[in-house]
Amino acid sequence: MRRFEMILPGSVKDCVQALAQHGAAAKLVAGGTDLLPQLKNHLLKPGVVIDLSGVAPLQQLTQDKAGLRIGAAVTARALERDARLQAGAWRGLAESGALVGSVQVRHLATVGGNICNAAPSADMIPPLLALDAQALITGPLGDRRVPLSDFITGVRKTVLGAGEMLVELIVPDPGPQSGGAYLRHTPRRELDIAVVGVGSQVTLANGVCKKARIALAAVAPTPVHATAAERALEGQALTAQKIEEAAQLAVEAARPISDQRGSAEFRRHLVRVLTRRTLTTALARANGAQA
Ligand SMILES: Cc1cc2nc3c(=O)[nH]c(=O)nc-3n(C[C@H](O)[C@H](O)[C@H](O)COP(=O)(O)OP(=O)(O)OC[C@H]3O[C@@H](n4cnc5c(N)ncnc54)[C@H](O)[C@@H]3O)c2cc1C
Repeated sequence: MRRFEMILPGSVKDCVQALAQHGAAAKLVAGGTDLLPQLKNHLLKPGVVIDLSGVAPLQQLTQDKAGLRIGAAVTARALERDARLQAGAWRGLAESGALVGSVQVRHLATVGGNICNAAPSADMIPPLLALDAQALITGPLGDRRVPLSDFITGVRKTVLGAGEMLVELIVPDPGPQSGGAYLRHTPRRELDIAVVGVGSQVTLANGVCKKARIALAAVAPTPVHATAAERALEGQALTAQKIEEAAQLAVEAARPISDQRGSAEFRRHLVRVLTRRTLTTALARANGAQA
């Protein structure tokens, strides 16, 4: 690996200063589980690496009436283990954290790193999209908020401009009678990336679906919402038939490629199956199921 200077800022303000000072030569590192392999393989050659591990506010996960605030450096393991995320509305977040890598990887891998690395298969993104999360970004011109659905613009591309960094995810509370779920398919049980991932969230009122969100991973250059499927569920009683219709519509939102890990046809099949399963589980959780 090429030698680089390491900077250990103690605050977000110091991070922004360091980014401004070193410009394009600098790279942020959180857990390093994506960045380090890229450095070792000479895909990136930063002169300066700015380590976020000493910036305490980035590691905080807080909850108030408005919802959750998840610091960019909160780890997958923290999502997996946080007792607040074991409740129906937030379960998809905990499930996505629990699927990342191995337990060692999860202690390092952060939500912000997963999002900013912008891999199509990133596991922690679909449940956040299904919860309509917003990204709080800071940089030389101050703070700005971007819907997470607009944050990723292509494979390994984001809206982050020069000198900007992700600070936290703001996840609105979906309210009572809401349930979420995340599932992915991998050929191996662990240490594999998603061939397809699906995060679903449903919120009920008066026996019908008030709001539905379905987000798909690894079927397009960026994670995508299955918008037509969401619309087909809203205002409806969620019967098995409605869920099956939505699962079919979700397939139409996918633009999968064929590669060594699965054909486009297999991925479309997985979208249908995983959408049906996550919607069914999300519905049960919205109705109070603990499992
Ligand atoms: C063995 C192994 C297994 C894995 N399994 C999975 C898996 O199952 N599912 C999955 O989704 N991923 C998996 N990954 C990928 C990786 O662990 C995750 O994407 C992880 O969440 C990245 O977080 P990190 O903190 O390690 O990111 P880092 O490597 O520290 O950073 C990744 C990128 O994001 C940038 N960055 C980090 N934080 C910020 C910030 N706050 N603002 C702006 N830019 C930032 C960095 O500059 C870098 O470009 C695996 C990786 C390994 C090595």
